[in-house]
Amino acid sequence: MIPQSFEYHLPKTLSEATRLAAKFGDEGKVLAGGHSLIPLMKLRLAAPKHLIDIGRIAELGAIRDEGERIRIGATVTHFQLESSEMLKARCPLLPETAAEIGDVQVRNKGTIGGSIAHADPAADWPAALLALDAEIHAASAQGERSIPIAEFFVDLLTTALEPAEILTSISVPALPARGGDAYAKLAHPASGFAVVGVAARVVLDEKGSIAQAGVGITGIGPKAYRAAAVEDVLRGKAASSKRLQEASAHAAEGIEATGDIYASAEYRAHLASVYTRRALEKAIERASG
Ligand code: FAD
Repeated sequence: MIPQSFEYHLPKTLSEATRLAAKFGDEGKVLAGGHSLIPLMKLRLAAPKHLIDIGRIAELGAIRDEGERIRIGATVTHFQLESSEMLKARCPLLPETAAEIGDVQVRNKGTIGGSIAHADPAADWPAALLALDAEIHAASAQGERSIPIAEFFVDLLTTALEPAEILTSISVPALPARGGDAYAKLAHPASGFAVVGVAARVVLDEKGSIAQAGVGITGIGPKAYRAAAVEDVLRGKAASSKRLQEASAHAAEGIEATGDIYASAEYRAHLASVYTRRALEKAIERASG
């Protein structure tokens, strides 16, 4: 179908973009890769009167190594993340997750900022960013603010961003010494989205016990979540396979799993445990060197 008519704006600076977003309010929408927004507009599920294309704002398109942390601009594409040699060395969870998204065309156009602003319950990035305890940076005509990822995903397709706010960058901690990252996903055979996706970052102490574990899970419920109950079982404990099994059993604890024609709620909850164990095993193996 053909979208309703709209005016197209191409700001060159962030301040120009936030001014436009404030001016148009609910009648405006930010356009990044367009891979989620344009299909919605074609189906007339979204009908913005103004599209604010942020693709030409140079400062939003960079990946920066800031030492202990790495900052990813909102319009960095999935492909840029997948192919960055710096990230493969400094934060391998990001390229590993990016490689699991859709197909080459989707990865070439889709952006990390667009993905998390859209907040699809089966998107891959939310799992990785929850596991890494990312910080989200946003700007509006009123100024800038940071949102912890734990507060960012509010509900199905709903985030903590205000309507006239533009997500500008995402900051994540680099992989520390004795750390290991992994992403384990069961992709839907038709759409490629996650039936379940589990991201893990594990940091071992000098004796090989688990000093820190971050586990983010997508695909199971209306929004991605951090599996705190899994992390609690692991913290300070030896990384035995019995312990991983015991911890993974808590993967869907407190979550109302979604059922659909492809996977029942019960099956999804079971998959959460299975893929959590797989992601943890791989992350620990990598952390052990
Ligand atoms: P857009 O479509 O441009 O925008 C999406 C929404 O976010 C809009 O509401 C827009 O206004 C808002 N927005 C965008 N950027 C910002 C910003 N900086 N600040 C504030 N609001 C913003 N995703 C997966 O995770 N896994 C998959 O396997 C997968 N498979 C796919 C397969 C197909 C065939 C398609 C079409 C998409 C698939 N996707 C998948 C989704 C894809 O990753 C999209 O690129 C992503 O969800 C949206 O990013 P975008 O840059 O295209 O955003």
